[in-house]
Order: sequence, then C-alpha cells, then structure tokens
Amino acid sequence: MALLQIQEPGGKIAKPLHRLAVGIDLGTTNSLVSASCGGGVETIPDNGGEHLLPSVVYYQKDQPALVGSEAKALLVEDSMNTVASIKRFLGKSQSELQAEHAYLPFEFDPSRSDSSPAIMTADGSKDAVQVSADILSELVQRAETCLKGPLEGAVVTVPAYFNDAQRQQTKDAAQLAGLKVLRLLNEPTAAAVAYGLDSEDQGNVVVFDLGGGTFDVSLLSLKKGVFEVLATAGDTSLGGDDIDHIIADWLAAQMHEAGQSETLPKARLLQLANSAKHQLSTQDTVQIAAAGWTTELDNKKLKQLTSELVRRTINTCRRVLRDASLAIEDIDNVIMVGGSTRMPIVRDAVAEFFGKPPLTNIDPDKVVAVGAGIQADVLIGNKSANSFLLLDVNPLSLGIETMGELVEKIIPRNTSIPVAKAQEFTTFKDGQTVMSLHVVQGERELVADCRSLARFELREIPAMVAGAAKVRVTFQVDADGLLSVTAEETSSGKKAEIQVKPSYGLESSVIEEMLQASHENAQADMETRSIKEAQLDARQLLDAIANAIAIDGELLSEIEVQKLKGAITALENIMISGSSVEINAATEALNLVSSDFAAKRMDLHIANALRGESIDAVEKQTD
Ligand code: AMP
Repeated sequence: MALLQIQEPGGKIAKPLHRLAVGIDLGTTNSLVSASCGGGVETIPDNGGEHLLPSVVYYQKDQPALVGSEAKALLVEDSMNTVASIKRFLGKSQSELQAEHAYLPFEFDPSRSDSSPAIMTADGSKDAVQVSADILSELVQRAETCLKGPLEGAVVTVPAYFNDAQRQQTKDAAQLAGLKVLRLLNEPTAAAVAYGLDSEDQGNVVVFDLGGGTFDVSLLSLKKGVFEVLATAGDTSLGGDDIDHIIADWLAAQMHEAGQSETLPKARLLQLANSAKHQLSTQDTVQIAAAGWTTELDNKKLKQLTSELVRRTINTCRRVLRDASLAIEDIDNVIMVGGSTRMPIVRDAVAEFFGKPPLTNIDPDKVVAVGAGIQADVLIGNKSANSFLLLDVNPLSLGIETMGELVEKIIPRNTSIPVAKAQEFTTFKDGQTVMSLHVVQGERELVADCRSLARFELREIPAMVAGAAKVRVTFQVDADGLLSVTAEETSSGKKAEIQVKPSYGLESSVIEEMLQASHENAQADMETRSIKEAQLDARQLLDAIANAIAIDGELLSEIEVQKLKGAITALENIMISGSSVEINAATEALNLVSSDFAAKRMDLHIANALRGESIDAVEKQTD
C-alpha cells in the first residue's frame, strides 16, 4: 500500500535534504570514490587533482600510515612495510596465499592462525581487513573534505566472482573505516549502472575488464531492471603490465639488432614501453628514444606483438558465452572497463568479435566507481522511489524442511532482493519442546535433492498438544544476499536465529544444473511429495488410534476390534508402497471404521465432565 503524504498544516514545504553517500571502487591497484555533487555522479579527486588513489599502504612505527602515491613510492625501497594488492588477500587463509603467490615480499605473523593471516610491519601485524580499512579511510577523508560533511553510507564494489568470505571481509573493512555499507555491488553491475543500462527492460551485457594486472569478463542478464550475473571468467595474471613487458622485450631486441652496445635496465625499458603504449592509444606511430638511439613503433606492429595476448582475452569472452549458453547475437551491449581497454587494438578486437562497437564513452578507470555512486545516491534516498534500482534476484528458492523430509519454499526463486517473508509452522508431536529447523536451497520437493544451507534449533517451546504451538519462521535476504532465518514461538516469545550466505560459492553452472534437474523431475517430485504427505496423515491417524485403544480400548466390542485391526493393517500395508491416492483412500477407510469408537470416547468424556470433571482433567489423568 502506498503511503499518503500529509503536509503539516500551515507548514512550509522543506527542500529535501541531500544526504551524503559515496560509491567506492576498492581496486587491486587503484581505488576511487565518487558521489553525486548536484549534477551527475563524479569521482572525487584529492587536493592535487588526482582521482585514482593507489591501493598501497606504508606502515611506520608510531606514525600514521601513508596511503596512496606516497606509499607507492616506497614500494621498492621498503617492501617489508609497504603493502600493495591487498585485495588479493581478502578472505584467504595463509596457506591459500602461499599456494597462490610464489613470492611474497613480507613476512606473516607466526602468532596468527592459518585462517586469519596478518603481515608483520613496523607498526605491528596487519591483516587484509585492516589494510583495506586504511585505504577506505583515506577515501572517506577525501570525500568528507570535498562534500563538507560526514558520510551517511557507501556502496562498495567487489568482483562478481568474490565468495562469501571475501565479501564479508570487504564489509568488515568498510565498517572498520567507519562506513555504513549500503550494499556491496558487483563491479560489472556497477559498470552497467553507470551506462544507465538498468533503465532498459531487458538485455544481455558483457563487461570486458582489462586492467594492469588482471582480466575479467562477466555476462549480465537484465530483466525488468534486475541484473543477474550469468557467467564470469578471467585471468588473474593478464593485463596491461604484460603488454609493457612485451614491448620492453621487443625494444631490447631492437637495440641489440641495431648493434647498440649500451643495454638499458629492465625498469627503464618498461618505462619507455609503458609511455609508448599510452601514446599509441591516441596516435598511430610513436618515436622511442633512449641512450642516443631512436626507433619507431606503430599500432600495426603493436597488434602483431600482442596478438597472442589479445587472442587470450577473446577466448575468455567465448568461454563466458558458452558458460551462459548464449550466442554472440544475444549480446546487446559490451562495456569496456580498466585502463588497458583504451588501447585501440583491444577495442577493435572486441568490436570484431561481438560484431558491434563496445561502450567506451565513460572513462574506463572510473566507470565502476561512477556506477557505485549512482547506486549509493539511490539507496540513501536522494532519488525518487520510481528510480529505485533492483539489482539482484534470489537465484534459487529458499525454504525449510518439514515433516517427511519435504521442502516448504519460503522465498521462491527469482524474487527481487532485499526481501522478507514469514510463514507459520507447528509442532508434530504432543509435548514437543524443541523444533529442528533445516534451511535448504533449491527447486526440488525433497530435502535430499536440495542444497543444505544451515541447521538450528528452537528450544523451550512450551509443551502443548501437537499442532497447537505457533512458530513463526521469517526468512530475510538483505541487499547483499545474506539470509537471516528467525524462528519464534509466538505465545512465549522464544526465539532462535541463524545467518547464512546462500548465494556465494554457488556457480551459475550449479544453478543451471539444479534448475534442469527440477524441470526434469517435476512430475515425479510432485507424486513423491503427495505420497509423503499421505503417509504423514496416515501415520498421525494410526498413532492417534493406537493411543485411543490404549486408553479406552474397553469401549470396543470384539467385532469392532477386528474391524479396526483390519483397516489398520490395510493402511499399514498400503502405506509402504501405495500411491498417494491409495494411501489417502485407506486413511479415509480407517477414519470411517473408527468414527463409532471416536463417538463413544466423546460420550464417555462428556459424561465424566458432567460428573464434575473437565475434559482437560480427564485427558490429563489418562495421559
Ligand atoms: P587499471 O588497473 O584499470 O588502472 O589499468 C591500468 C593499466 O591500464 C596499466 O597497464 C596502464 O598502462 C593501462 N593504461 C592506462 N591508460 C592507458 C592508455 N591510455 N593506453 C593504454 N593503456 C593504458
């Protein structure tokens, strides 16, 4: 229901307050902060006009840490106390890091456990969360100075492939930096938001992100303003730095061929290569001069030198399409992200492969931060409700196990998040004081065919007859996909709660398989569910009759006992292998046969009550 807006009588209409929220691209090499400053969303520069903050932190004893270019300048000189590329450490154990990196220029703190590694520095040991928080604090300071006020929230971007632990640590770092995280946003989704693609009704978007050291391709599907990541692929050691090395090697070979006796140090060659590469993004030929020697490099030659590297990036695009089962013609837009996508040879290769020019008019270094800033502005409430962006959906249904190992779906698949839904459950047995809750994910009817997410117990439920307790189970998925399940017995207020991250670590291929299996087994699953439900009803009736015979068996004649026993045996037999229709029919037959007995019991209890005792008291005595 829409809320009616009521104006205070005689009151003036105040101009809505512009709340301060920022978007943050916390990058491996560089980080950026952006905000809406009246007009559109823009990245915020430091005092010197620099927008990119190198993601490098220098720690020194008894002095504040240096963050950014100053720290970067000390990288070679004091590598033990200068931390770069910390993003690669988020959510990783020490053994994982050591397996992934052949060489690490610092020492791990031996007093820390494998699961929470920290780097030893002159200012004590620092873990990935603390280092990231130092980078974020620098960005916060920059933003607060520029915006002239304290920030109320931030949207922080993360790679689409980041798992649960990596996302959680990003959030922890933001909190440590004093930031309220409005949401974590996938980097490719942020890029698509920056280009305003979320305002379209539907489409498929490829985000091609080639930075200095890493390469990522993501395929997003957009339906009614909701983005879903269909597939991601990439190479964590492919980027512009490799191109610099290729050019540097070519330069060294050229000098050697020209009989140049003076050899240049590798660092100088790399500098020359990088500068030439940058110039070739805006001009076709470049003169390279060093040590009194000159050569020429043009884009044709550069294309030849980098053909293998560019081919690898295109192969990755091919793989992403294959993983998402889409063809080139299904792609509506290609977005370029990362400094290396300024290179015409990269743009041309991408345009040729997808058969259309990629979107390049937003600065490829800033596009992710800009998207995050737009999203932050909306989430903090600076935009009207109808421009609210829904960016994610729940990919698989979330539910709870009920009796008979059946699944009751609480949040169906494809529901837009954030979302909260509740349902009431009850106890199965008389006097039941504990309820086991099993949270599952998937489309199938049986628990065994779904993914188990978590188990927890609700204890101290007041003892009542079966079916009398009311347990309200609430499923809440926040904007980051974190699921909280709460179970509350409504009369006593007893509560239990658990949190799970259902969406991470769940590859799109697994989702696809789970959906496929649910389609293929839909018919069989429904019948299995019906059988299980029929068996449960039958079991409840059999238990109730056995209990009644134990208490009031003397009310039955021999013939009635025989008839009842016959119907009980028939139901017990059919329950094992019968269809749901057969089990329901046998349950109904037993119900009929036992109806006289039930009537006699009722008469007896009423008579007892009329003798001055309540039915409750009679029930209690006979329990
Ligand atoms: P990123 O990690 O996204 O900041 O990208 C950095 C990489 O982009 C480095 O390898 C840079 O050399 C490269 N890069 C930045 N600007 C250009 C340009 N104009 N032409 C070619 N490469 C560039």
